[in-house]
Amino acid sequence: MGIETAGRVPKTVCVIGGGVTGLTAAYRLGKAGYLVTVVEQNPEAGGMLSSFFTGGSRLEHIYHHIFTSDTHVRSLADELGLEDQIEWYHPRDALLSGRHLYPFTGPMDLLRFRAIPLWDRIRTGLLVLRAGRMRNFAALEQQTAADWLHRQGGRRAYETLWKPLLRAKFDTDAEEVSAVWIWNKFKLRGGSRKGGKGRETLGYMRGSFGRMVDRLVEEIGAVGGSVLTRTTALDISKRENGGYAVTCILEDCSARTLSCDAVVACIAGRQFANIAGALRLPREYLEKVTSVTHKANLCLTLRMYHPLTDFYWTTICDSLPFVVMVEHTNLTGTGPYRGAVVYLSRYLGITDPLWTCTDDDIYRLFCGELDRILPSFSSSQVIEWRVRRTRYAQPVVLRDYGQRVAGIDTPDPGVKLAGMAQIYPQDRGVNYAIALAGRAASAVEAYLEEKPES
Ligand SMILES: Cc1cc2nc3c(=O)[nH]c(=O)nc-3n(C[C@H](O)[C@H](O)[C@H](O)COP(=O)(O)OP(=O)(O)OC[C@H]3O[C@@H](n4cnc5c(N)ncnc54)[C@H](O)[C@@H]3O)c2cc1C
Repeated sequence: MGIETAGRVPKTVCVIGGGVTGLTAAYRLGKAGYLVTVVEQNPEAGGMLSSFFTGGSRLEHIYHHIFTSDTHVRSLADELGLEDQIEWYHPRDALLSGRHLYPFTGPMDLLRFRAIPLWDRIRTGLLVLRAGRMRNFAALEQQTAADWLHRQGGRRAYETLWKPLLRAKFDTDAEEVSAVWIWNKFKLRGGSRKGGKGRETLGYMRGSFGRMVDRLVEEIGAVGGSVLTRTTALDISKRENGGYAVTCILEDCSARTLSCDAVVACIAGRQFANIAGALRLPREYLEKVTSVTHKANLCLTLRMYHPLTDFYWTTICDSLPFVVMVEHTNLTGTGPYRGAVVYLSRYLGITDPLWTCTDDDIYRLFCGELDRILPSFSSSQVIEWRVRRTRYAQPVVLRDYGQRVAGIDTPDPGVKLAGMAQIYPQDRGVNYAIALAGRAASAVEAYLEEKPES
């Protein structure tokens, strides 16, 4: 991997995973003078933020927006010359409850939400306000979101509003999720109302966030690094000279070994444990890393002739096979895609039979339900559709998560782990992935500065 520059061979780093965390870590390390190779198993870089072309424009495989408080995304976009490409919108949101679509954008919508008694609506409003102002989350760490919401907002509000919301994200693990997770959601959503005259403000990049992914890849290349796609890391081992070897398998089934001075694995803990056997890490550490489970996600994208509703984000409180409906083009307008773009999303465990259904079955199941609940839907309106499966989509944040989760440093000083599960107390998201990448890059730099030449 090393190339000679001015008589000095730069130290080399292998980054496993070409999602936004891996690419940002590689970009930071490349700028700091290290020679970086990113290996990504998929055909394209970007991970969950990767995109494809539809209707003549680029679109994420999975719905993405940012919040005004996402300062790490904004400053990275600025560094990459893209800050002025972020457009800011005031979306309209809704809840589907009892087959009825309730507007649910602001506090007045909560007051009008007749599915729960008035007193519980008031309690719920106060709960959201109080939570948004809370700074210290220590008292929430040992409580489940279910208990906390139940106590603070009342049984009816919990059953009608919060339980479906928790189930939407955590499926069968919903009742076990920590109160810290939901508190963070309240804070984030409250924060994104600041500066928007009390209205929620969401950002989206003109031409898709894929442009950020492209710019990161370009910048990594500009300082001599590379991003190898269709390249799966299979094994990390130690070399006798104190460096590391990352053995990869390529698309044609040939193997390639990358030698390097340090490794950053920007993947889930379980994926890391699967390829770290040769490092002989302590059993307790591996147990910690693998103890965090992740929900998978199925996301069906529809491009249609006409919009379905006026809402950007609809949370489904009824029992349907998908749990969120995101009408992306109610944020951006339909122009770029020559049609309306709608995402239907479902988080689930991988033992759920839906996970192994064919794409055709998922399309038929989700659209069959749309047909039942929305008179505006007809399958003849669908121009194009596709299903995206994400195995490690959402870490399940249990009580005392802070103590359960491993840090960036692994017991092997030259190997760092920076997966989504390392993000806490915030929920995973592009903003925190970028921040995590910065910390991982600093940890690698600190290690390499201390390390003698190999
Ligand atoms: C449904 C959904 C909606 C979301 N919406 C938003 C949103 O609106 N706003 C927001 O900020 N965030 C959102 N997110 C979260 C955001 O996408 C993630 O936090 C972020 O993209 C995570 O980046 P990452 O690099 O850590 O992980 P990933 O994107 O998962 O990247 C990890 C990469 O590692 C690769 N990999 C794994 N193992 C190996 C191996 N052995 N060898 C080579 N490559 C390997 C994988 O293929 C993958 O590309 C959403 C996520 C989901 C699932």
